[in-house]
Amino acid sequence: MQQNNQTEVLIAGAGIAGASAAYFLSPHCRVTILEREDQPGYHTTGRSAALFAESYGNATVRALTRASRAFLESPPAGFATNPILSPRGHLVFGRADQGAALDAIAEDFAATGARVQALSGSRVRELVPALREEHAHRGVLDESAQDIDVHALHHGFLRGARANGARLVTSAEIRAAQFSNGRWRIETSAGEFDAALLVNAAGAWVDELARACGAAPIGIEPLRRTAIVFECGRFSGGSASTSHWPLAIDATETLYFRPEAGRFLASPADETPSPPCDAQPDEFDVATLVERLQAATHFDIRRITSKWAGLRSFVADRTLVAGFDVRQAAFFWLAGQGGYGIQTSPAMGMAAAALVLRREMPAALRDEGVSLAALDPRRLV
Ligand SMILES: Cc1cc2nc3c(=O)[nH]c(=O)nc-3n(C[C@H](O)[C@H](O)[C@H](O)COP(=O)(O)OP(=O)(O)OC[C@H]3O[C@@H](n4cnc5c(N)ncnc54)[C@H](O)[C@@H]3O)c2cc1C
Repeated sequence: MQQNNQTEVLIAGAGIAGASAAYFLSPHCRVTILEREDQPGYHTTGRSAALFAESYGNATVRALTRASRAFLESPPAGFATNPILSPRGHLVFGRADQGAALDAIAEDFAATGARVQALSGSRVRELVPALREEHAHRGVLDESAQDIDVHALHHGFLRGARANGARLVTSAEIRAAQFSNGRWRIETSAGEFDAALLVNAAGAWVDELARACGAAPIGIEPLRRTAIVFECGRFSGGSASTSHWPLAIDATETLYFRPEAGRFLASPADETPSPPCDAQPDEFDVATLVERLQAATHFDIRRITSKWAGLRSFVADRTLVAGFDVRQAAFFWLAGQGGYGIQTSPAMGMAAAALVLRREMPAALRDEGVSLAALDPRRLV
């Protein structure tokens, strides 16, 4: 084994979860990140809709999102050249028969403290002129939702970790690991590694990796979600008149879309169970999406310029997981990022570092009411 293959903390997976943990751990200990692909961010992290919404997810997810906001708004000097967040807004629209659902959404959003407005149909259509009148009878707008520059955030974490001495090894798939005499011996496609602690940030593969390391799985469920970018006749062209539209989502969460550099990004918000894999879009899901877009909007779709799918991986209660394994104290879980792993990544990185280093919970999390117990994998056994 090469000398530099010895480390204190070995992180499996260089998606946003592994990168943020490396960023917050690396000032305090020796960190190595192993990534199976030849580039970090190839899987779910590179396939998101890039939205930051404090009104999204359950109470713990919302608290983690609020606790991430200050970092995302004002990252440390040199972290990124451009702002990570930029204004977007999150608009839920509905038909006349969906009034009760919209009332419930308005109440739920308002309880988060986000800047929320109930909108008339005409105001909804002023904000998103592509919506058909019958589908946009009323709406609820969370003005505080933002776009996230995911690439800048992910690479800011990785660059910062490297500056602190962390090592990123790509094309390094962990195949098996044994723990003895207080150390892990980790067999990978890039040779053998040795570490005191193994952090499992392998996204959809966390349970597979746990089995390969002799730990019990936590019941991760990867769910495939499809997205496309399309050009359309009337509203495309990069004009300023569409770039400020909020992300628009229907009240039953079966369709969302937003402007994307002169085009539009859209998703049918599908959740199809899948084994961990390099997810690909299913033609049926793309056709369903186009049908829903045509029913709810006046978009004249000319061309789908790209389409993709990614795996959003959840545990049973849809709350993220950070903590030591129940039986193997040198095995740490950082999992279940679901559909909010980007917007919660600063808080999750801080939480993981505090737990690994056995330090107090950072004030940013404590002040927002994040309970480390809510993240603890012990709740899942
Ligand atoms: C369509 C879509 C829209 C989304 N929209 C949003 C959004 O608007 N806002 C938001 O916050 N989130 C969103 N998400 C969710 C977000 O993208 C995920 O929560 C997040 O990217 C998960 O990050 P991760 O690091 O856990 O997983 P990944 O990015 O998948 O990283 C895990 C890494 O582990 C590596 N790995 C696995 N096994 C091994 C092994 N044995 N050895 C070495 N490496 C291994 C993999 O190669 C992979 O690179 C969306 C997701 C999708 C698919």
